[in-house]
Amino acid sequence: MRTAVVLLLFFLFSGCASAWDTTPHRAMTRAALDSLPPAYRAQIAPEIPSILETWCMLPDRYAELVNFGFRRNSPGPKTVEEMQPYCVRPDGETIHSATWDRDEDLASLVFLYMRIASALHDKHPAEAVRYIGVLAHFLEDSLSPPHAAAQPREIHAALEHEVPALRTPQPHSAGAHIVEAAEAILDRLYAAADLNRKNMPAMVEAVSAKNQPALIALCRAPAQSAADLLADSLLTLFQLAAR
Ligand SMILES: [Zn+2]
Repeated sequence: MRTAVVLLLFFLFSGCASAWDTTPHRAMTRAALDSLPPAYRAQIAPEIPSILETWCMLPDRYAELVNFGFRRNSPGPKTVEEMQPYCVRPDGETIHSATWDRDEDLASLVFLYMRIASALHDKHPAEAVRYIGVLAHFLEDSLSPPHAAAQPREIHAALEHEVPALRTPQPHSAGAHIVEAAEAILDRLYAAADLNRKNMPAMVEAVSAKNQPALIALCRAPAQSAADLLADSLLTLFQLAAR
């Protein structure tokens, strides 16, 4: 009962803590992982189920624990100490989704990219996939349609549950080094978020009219963009780690 109350309070007041529901997060993350060349995918293959099950939801898990004292029963880390190294930068800033402060967001991306590339280079896949999960969540939540603009809670909730069918991305290198790649990915993330904001009136109209096909169509572009950005990030990091 206490758990139910805590959860209810969490979903009523969490604001930007939740964004996409678990199923859309997993769909976007899976599409990006499926896009990796087989040789790269093989390096983390045994860990892929844990990325989808646990790590791509780690920032929500961390926020639930820190803000509400709610601890998920599902497999995965249970304490702040276990999650902090992946969800909090060394300067103390928490990583969840874009803040739209470019310097802050660049710092988060560079931190995650460096940790992923170094863990892959050192052949520590179990460590790499934890940061990969946080990166996935960061890119995906940033393009969650209701985060583009304020709107009534029922519309927020409706948008977060949509799971449009995604195509497998065709990944490209985002840059020759980590900062260049992070800058390029951030530019594209901000552009995709602008499109989300532009589409918000049409999304609100689709929710109000209970027009599910229109809603799914409008959620497809941001979800696909998130999968594409994650795919390009990962390809680039595997390439850099192999040098
Ligand atoms: Zn989230």
